[in-house]
Amino acid sequence: MQRNHFDTEHNLFRDAFAAFLDKEVVPHQEEWEAAGMVDRSVWAKAGEMGFLLPWADEEYGGAGLKDFRYEQIMCEELARINEPGFMIPLHSALCGPYIAEYGSAQQKACWLPGIVRGETILAVAMTEPAAGSDLAGMRTTAVDKGDHWLLNGSKVFISNGYLADLVIVAAKTDPANKHAMGLFLVERGMQGFERGKKLKKLGMHSQDTAELFFNDVKVPKENLLGDAKGGFFYLMNMLAQERLTNACGAVAGAEAAL
Ligand SMILES: Cc1cc2nc3c(=O)[nH]c(=O)nc-3n(C[C@H](O)[C@H](O)[C@H](O)COP(=O)(O)OP(=O)(O)OC[C@H]3O[C@@H](n4cnc5c(N)ncnc54)[C@H](O)[C@@H]3O)c2cc1C
Repeated sequence: MQRNHFDTEHNLFRDAFAAFLDKEVVPHQEEWEAAGMVDRSVWAKAGEMGFLLPWADEEYGGAGLKDFRYEQIMCEELARINEPGFMIPLHSALCGPYIAEYGSAQQKACWLPGIVRGETILAVAMTEPAAGSDLAGMRTTAVDKGDHWLLNGSKVFISNGYLADLVIVAAKTDPANKHAMGLFLVERGMQGFERGKKLKKLGMHSQDTAELFFNDVKVPKENLLGDAKGGFFYLMNMLAQERLTNACGAVAGAEAAL
């Protein structure tokens, strides 16, 4: 199908990203599939080249390219080489925007530069064994303990589950209201935060899809994103862009296969 929505800048970006993948990703794909995850060094290389969160403001190290077509190009090129484990779209187009959109000035200044550089890898943890499509059924809770939130529960099918340094965790915050949930920034190394096994899948072998466990994790108050009861709305708002990236990758993957 003839497409005319990309201009010269986009085409140059595509050439640069495709060349990056051919040099830094394709030679390692077999090894990453066997390991069940990509090597984290490729994230830093992508950050150095400006491929992570290109939309982020310059003060955070981004290029300020607020144009979804750059995300589309990356989805398409990753699909062209059949690389599902190096999840730039999840990091850049799904998780990063939660921090940019709902984070405080302090949270953005603290986290976005490392995320743009590929030093802080992101994941989002919504799904639970009994809560997939119906997120309102989740059981993970966060209880306000005055100077911190106490997080308890478990998540499943979390992409970047092993590599992630910062996980956006959805948890219920009011037992009387099933839609009241908060989004909490849980950091690698927080006491009580554990990763379970990497899940075996039919395909996508280089993607570290994993279980995550939260046992009495004390999450500092400053790690709550936005409103403690607004998380359900934030998820519904941001998941639209995730679906768009999935669709871009799926169409490009089908074209590559044909
Ligand atoms: C490879 C992979 C990576 C993932 N990465 C992440 C991640 O990073 N973070 C995260 O939080 N989650 C992740 N997930 C989980 C994913 O978001 C869920 O699988 C998805 O939300 C569906 O939930 P479920 O698997 O429990 O299926 P269910 O919700 O049980 O649905 C099963 C089937 O029933 C259908 N269905 C459900 N409800 C209805 C209804 N009311 N009416 C009609 N049909 C219905 C669904 O369409 C589906 O076909 C990942 C999953 C996979 C496979």
